[in-house]
Amino acid sequence: MELRLILGDQLHPGHSWFSEVDQNVTYVMMEVREEASYAPHHIQKILCFFAAMRHFAADLRKSGHQVKYLSISDSQNCHSIIENLKILLETGQYSSFCYQEPDEYRLDHQLKEFVQSQNIQSQLVSSEHFLVRRNEFSVVFPGKSQGYLMETFYRHIRKKENLLMEQGKPMFGKWNFDAENRKKLPKNLSLPDPVLFQNDLSHIQSELSQAGIQGIGRVDAANIFWPVTRDQALQLLSIFCDRFLPDFGTYQDAMTVKSWSVFHARISFALNVKLLSPSEVIEAAVSSWKNSTPAFEFHQLEGFVRQIAGWREYMRCLYWSHMPEYAQMNFFQHHRKLPVWYWTGQTKMNCLSHAIGQSLEYAYAHHIQRLMVTGNFALLAGIDPDEVDQWYLGIYIDAIEWVEITNTRGMSQYADGGLAATKPYVSSAAYIDKMSDYCTQCHYVKTLKTGKNACPFNSLYWSFLESNREKLITNPRMTMMYRVLDKMSTEDRNALMKQAEIYLSQLDDL
Ligand code: FAD
Ligand code: SF4
Repeated sequence: MELRLILGDQLHPGHSWFSEVDQNVTYVMMEVREEASYAPHHIQKILCFFAAMRHFAADLRKSGHQVKYLSISDSQNCHSIIENLKILLETGQYSSFCYQEPDEYRLDHQLKEFVQSQNIQSQLVSSEHFLVRRNEFSVVFPGKSQGYLMETFYRHIRKKENLLMEQGKPMFGKWNFDAENRKKLPKNLSLPDPVLFQNDLSHIQSELSQAGIQGIGRVDAANIFWPVTRDQALQLLSIFCDRFLPDFGTYQDAMTVKSWSVFHARISFALNVKLLSPSEVIEAAVSSWKNSTPAFEFHQLEGFVRQIAGWREYMRCLYWSHMPEYAQMNFFQHHRKLPVWYWTGQTKMNCLSHAIGQSLEYAYAHHIQRLMVTGNFALLAGIDPDEVDQWYLGIYIDAIEWVEITNTRGMSQYADGGLAATKPYVSSAAYIDKMSDYCTQCHYVKTLKTGKNACPFNSLYWSFLESNREKLITNPRMTMMYRVLDKMSTEDRNALMKQAEIYLSQLDDL
C-alpha cells in the first residue's frame, strides 16, 4: 500500500495522481492546528481552506479513491502534519510514501527531514500546477544572484509557452501595454457587482471554536462568498472573463470607496489552492478575448496574462532562489511596530481606513491597495518587515508564504534590497489621489505637507528618502526624487522632517 499526502493547497483535480483509481493507494489529508495558527489568519481564510479540502476529499471518494481525512475535531488528530504521518506509517500498513512538492519552504524542509528519518520508500512528485519549475531563474538568469528583471522572465515564459505570440513575435508588436493601462476610474463608470457565492460553513466554524481557533477579521459563516469547490472556481473564472476582463487592464491600478474589487478577478484563493491552474486561467482569458463581440482591446488581456504568467511565476521562482534567507531580509533595518489600527481599520486616514476595513471584512484588497496604500504606509513609517509580513500573511484569503513574502518583504517593503523591485514603491498623497477617490473624504488634506491636518504620506515620503539617502541615492530610478529633495530650501526641508518626526512619534493616533 502507498500513502500519498495531499496538502491543503494541493487541491489540483487534474493531477495525474487522480487519473486512475488504485486500491493500493490511500490519500491522506489533514486539518491541523499547527497550520491554522502559525500566523493570526483571517477566519474566512481558515474556513475556506478547510471547506475546499473537505469538498476535494469528498470528490475524490466519489470517484472511487481511498481517502483518510483528519478533520480539526477528529480525536485521532495530533494537529501536526509530521506527527500524524508518523502515526500512520507506524501502523505498518504502508510500504511507500509519496508527496507533491510543497510550495512552502517550511513544509518542504520538514517533509524532507521526515522522509529521511523514516525507513520507507518515498517519492517526491511535481504538483503539476505551475508553468515553470522552481529553479527557472537558473535558466533565465544563469549565474545571477540578483537583478532578476520581471520583464525578461515574462518574455521567456511567453516564448516558452507560445503565449500571445505570432510567428515568434509578440502579438501586436509589443510585449508590454502598460501605457494604456492604469487609468483612474471615470466618475460615472458603473462597476459590475462582484460574483458572490453563498457557502454555509457554520459547521466548520463551530468545530474551529471548539478547537479554540478564533482567527481574525469579520465573518458571516453562513454566507461565505469565496469559491470553495472546483465548480465555483470555474464559474468565477468564466464570469470574470465575460464581465470584468474587458476593463481589467485599463483600471487595474484604480481604487475607489465604491468598490472593494473593481475589475479584479478574485481568483487568487482558487489559484493558490490549485482548484484552478494558471494555464486554464490564461486559456479562458485568451478564448474570451478571441470570441468577444464587440471585441475588447488586446491590452486588457495582456495586462491580465502578465499577472499570471509573469508576476505569479516570477514570485515563486524568486522565493525558491532565496529562501530561507529571504525571510530575514531587512535592507533598511526598519524596526517600528505596526500601528494598532492595522488590526481595526480605525485610522483617520481614509485610504488606509478603507483598504484595511475591507481587508478585515472580506479578507481581500486588490494589488494596488496592498502595494500603494497599506504597504506604502508601512514602508514610509519604517515598520519592521517581520510585522508587515505577519499582517499580510494573516489577513488575506490568498496568503501563502511563497507569494505573500515575495510581494510583501520584496516588492512592497524593498526589504530584499531590490531583488523583486527595481526601486521602492513609495509615494506621497499625489499618487493615491491620482488613482482613487479616497482623498476627497479624508480628515487629512492631501495638498498640505506640514501642519495639523497635513496628509501624513507627504512628510513621511520625504523623510523616508532623506533617512535612506545612502542606500538609495545610487539607484538611477531615484535620482529625480533626490534632485527635487535637494532643490528644497533648508527651511522647507527641516519643516518636513519635523512634521514626519511628529507623525512617527504618534503612529497609533493617526
Ligand atoms: P487580479 O488583480 O485579478 O490578478 C489576477 C491574478 O494574477 C491573481 O489572482 C494572482 O494569482 C496573479 N497576480 C497578480 N499580481 C500578482 C503578484 N504581484 N504576485 C503574484 N501573483 C499575482 N497574491 C497572492 O496570491 N497571495 C498573497 O499573499 C499576496 N500578497 C501580496 C502582498 C502585497 C504587499 C502585494 C503588493 C501583493 C500581494 N499579492 C498576493 C499579489 C496580488 O495583490 C494578489 O494576487 C491579487 O490582489 C489577488 O487578487 P485577484 O485574484 O483579484 O487578482
Ligand atoms: Fe490617504 Fe492622505 Fe489622501 Fe487622506 S489625504 S486619503 S491620508 S493620501
